[in-house]
Amino acid sequence: MEFRLIDRIRERTAQEREDVRLGIGDDAALLAVPTGQELAVAIDTLVEGVHFPAGTAPADIGWKALAVNLSDLAAMGATPAWALLALTLPQPDAAFVDGLADGFAQLAGQHRLALVGGDTTRGPLTLSVAVHGFVPPGQALTRAGARVGDAVLVTGTLGDAAAGLRCLQAPMQMDVRTSMRDVLVGRLNRPVPRLSAGLALRGRASACLDVSDGLLADLGHLCAASGVGAEIDAALLPRSPALLGLFDEVAARDFALAGGDDYELCFTVSAARVAGVQADLARLGCGATRIGRIVAGEGVRVRDAGGGWLEPGRAGWDHFAA
Ligand code: ADP
Ligand code: MG
Repeated sequence: MEFRLIDRIRERTAQEREDVRLGIGDDAALLAVPTGQELAVAIDTLVEGVHFPAGTAPADIGWKALAVNLSDLAAMGATPAWALLALTLPQPDAAFVDGLADGFAQLAGQHRLALVGGDTTRGPLTLSVAVHGFVPPGQALTRAGARVGDAVLVTGTLGDAAAGLRCLQAPMQMDVRTSMRDVLVGRLNRPVPRLSAGLALRGRASACLDVSDGLLADLGHLCAASGVGAEIDAALLPRSPALLGLFDEVAARDFALAGGDDYELCFTVSAARVAGVQADLARLGCGATRIGRIVAGEGVRVRDAGGGWLEPGRAGWDHFAA
């Protein structure tokens, strides 16, 4: 039975690539790394009830398991090529596996990514995806290069995914606002990895990472890796019309500061490069908003609309802490 499931996955995710010498079906895949490229590799695990709510559609789970990994490659400025999928299932359910594979394949096809192997076991629903991509030597974006005076920018909008999760947990009256709710839940279930933005930032961003745990936490990681601090302005946080339509100002701010699962890119550039980078990312469709700057010291401070500093201990976002 396990073999039939693997066959279904292979059929549904079929993707021709010259560099896949041997894909699913043998003891290991054989892959040709292009000459002169560095290999960027990442792995992320999604556990039902922890990383996605029980009851999430199988196609959304398959999409998201790949998307969160492609987001890591985007943050490095890498081009995706191959993936492995370790799948743990409570029971062998062909329809469920078909849905997972279809959602995975939908996103994989957009990036010509080939699923080249994996593992299938029985247990609580869990997907581990490992991705492999290429980047020219020395050109990868890392968390470590931010310098005092650099601008801090973020792609797209923040807070939608966490707000979508809140919508699922505490259903509101649904009247005319259903379409806004659908936008937020869609951002939770089908994150779009910012791969073209990551490529556009090569050679320009001094540091970059993707926002998976929430802006404050992730920008804090970037600052720690770079040995600097950051000051951001709550009034500048990019928020979607759906988020602002369904939540009040303070809740929307806290989702944007501390909600996870957005998979936007947060990056730093020298002040002279801000306008050019913003123009290019606008052309790519995601845009980028300047939210603050890098300062000497450590940690992330947030200026509120009145010009004072928000205090994380007392502000509304501490309820996001895991
Ligand atoms: P082995 O015992 O040699 O690890 P498996 O039965 O686990 O073999 O896997 C058989 C083949 O199917 C291997 O090529 C493996 O990479 C692939 N495979 C297994 N599970 C998956 C999966 N969930 N997705 C993609 N490929 C898979
Ligand atoms: Mg195996």
